[in-house]
Amino acid sequence: MKISTLTNWAYAITVGLTFFSGLAFILSIYKAEEERAVVEVHLALSNLGTQLELDAELRADEARLFVMRGDLSHLAAFETINEEEHRLEEQARHVEDYGGTPEELALLNEINALIDDLEVLEKQAIETYQSGDAAGARDILFGDTHYKQHLRLIEQIKGFSQAVNARTELALQKATFQSDLYNIVARVLLGLTALLFLGVLYFILRRRVALPLTHMSSIVRRLAKQDFAVEVPDDSRRDEIGDLSDAIRVFRENGLERERLDAERKRDLKMKSLILEMMRRMQACQEIEEIADVVGRFGPQIFADLGGGFYLFNETKTELWCASQWQMPEGLPERFEPDACWSLRRGRAHLSLPGQKDVDCQHFATSHTTDLCIPLMAHGDALGLLMFTSLFDDRTSMDDYTAYLGMIAENVGLALANLQLRERLRKMAICDPLTGLLNRRSLDKALATFSREKGDTPLTCLMIDIDHFKRFNDEFGHDAGDVVIETFAEILSDTVGDRGLCYRYGGEEFSVLLTGVCPEEAYEIAEHIRTRTATTSLSHSGRILGTISVSIGLADTRDSGTFSTVRTRADVALLRAKELGRNRTVSDADFAVDQRAS
Ligand code: GH3
Ligand code: MG
Ligand code: MG
Repeated sequence: MKISTLTNWAYAITVGLTFFSGLAFILSIYKAEEERAVVEVHLALSNLGTQLELDAELRADEARLFVMRGDLSHLAAFETINEEEHRLEEQARHVEDYGGTPEELALLNEINALIDDLEVLEKQAIETYQSGDAAGARDILFGDTHYKQHLRLIEQIKGFSQAVNARTELALQKATFQSDLYNIVARVLLGLTALLFLGVLYFILRRRVALPLTHMSSIVRRLAKQDFAVEVPDDSRRDEIGDLSDAIRVFRENGLERERLDAERKRDLKMKSLILEMMRRMQACQEIEEIADVVGRFGPQIFADLGGGFYLFNETKTELWCASQWQMPEGLPERFEPDACWSLRRGRAHLSLPGQKDVDCQHFATSHTTDLCIPLMAHGDALGLLMFTSLFDDRTSMDDYTAYLGMIAENVGLALANLQLRERLRKMAICDPLTGLLNRRSLDKALATFSREKGDTPLTCLMIDIDHFKRFNDEFGHDAGDVVIETFAEILSDTVGDRGLCYRYGGEEFSVLLTGVCPEEAYEIAEHIRTRTATTSLSHSGRILGTISVSIGLADTRDSGTFSTVRTRADVALLRAKELGRNRTVSDADFAVDQRAS
């Protein structure tokens, strides 16, 4: 109820109570007036009785004085008093007109009759005296008849006075009681009005205004301090305070919304800055393992409630292997086939939900979690896979992160592609494109590195040249020549294995660096290369090419010289092998001894 409605009601009730209180006061005053009138009637009737008695007394006295003294002034006084007595008698006959009761009127009529009887006796005595019988007149006035009549009159008037007193007392009691009653009612109503007024004032000011305002001011103070946890009571009252409460509630809800948006913005900023840091690290990565390490370290920082894994294709793209994983309670499979993942099949992100109607990826250990797979694509090619699992089995967090996860996958894909491109360029710089063997630059670099870092490690260098290759080229064509070079490169790599490094020095010339191999073993390897080559028949496009032979020069750092001269010495030995008729191995040591001998 609105305060204005409440005050209107209170005002109406107050007016009503005031009206009835005034009415009661008026009635009380009216009854007090009635009381006064009763007293006045009583006074008038008492006076009338007393005056009738007094005048009867005086009239008798004047009659007696006249018959005793014969003074006419007493006769005149007798007449005057008698007239006055008549007037009072007349008044007594109309006693009802000014408040007398019929009983009192009857009493007064009796009194009048007694007075009249006394008058007859007294007039009779006066006439008797005037006729000269003074003694007879005195007998009448002082005689028993007059005396008894007069006594009866006194008794009657006394009775009348008592009756008037009794009635007056009753009327007075009644009028006083009613006057007091109305007075009390008026005061009670006035008191009620005052109480109602004070009550309404208390209710409005304290309960409906002061308390809610105090409460609201404390709420506003807390809201001003950004404490939006404060509860604003849902006040259903429809008044100004209720409107104020609604406004504060709206203010709080706006504050909460602003706080939520602010927290979201901060979280977004934090995640983006972490993602940026991660990207910067990835840009500086030089190996795929480093990218995997960066993803594995930043993944749990960015998505605290997600576990994850980073998978890469093997070289033949037949399998994916786990390069890193984080926060996965049940662990991830080390390897799985690409077909087990729907995101790789479709080339786009795929969500596996517990109990969903859509297909699930088969490579997850359990199907009771919310899992997201995102293929790592670059230039339309899938390079690997990022997968995420909700630790609290909550799809909302996964949905919230979708944009960030997509952003990360895109950047990891690009970083991988960059690294692969860089690796290809590096390989192109150090490898020979035809055979895949290391090129001459790599050989020079390796020799420089050996001379710089491995001064004590013995090194054997083989320089190999295919014999009469020009003729082979001329006879079978350049493509066939390429096949020969490729086939020899394979024989070379296979024979040397992990005992050394193979290089294509240029054209149809090759080099081998052998470390930790004694000169005898090195010679054996060289011979093995040579004999395997000589016994391998070659063909190209269905054409038999026959066999080839190679000449090999061998030099070792243990014999003489340094890393910087070992290749030159091997080259000289190769030249010697050519001079000696090709298809042979010549050691720099033997050649040097021979040279010294000759
Ligand atoms: P020798 O026994 O004295 O070494 O005679 P040779 O013919 O092998 O030597 P020569 O230096 O006269 O000829 C080398 C030839 O190798 C010349 C060149 O045409 C050929 N050649 C160099 N690089 C390649 C290549 O990449 N592919 C092909 N098919 N031929 C090459
Ligand atoms: Mg040559
Ligand atoms: Mg040659």
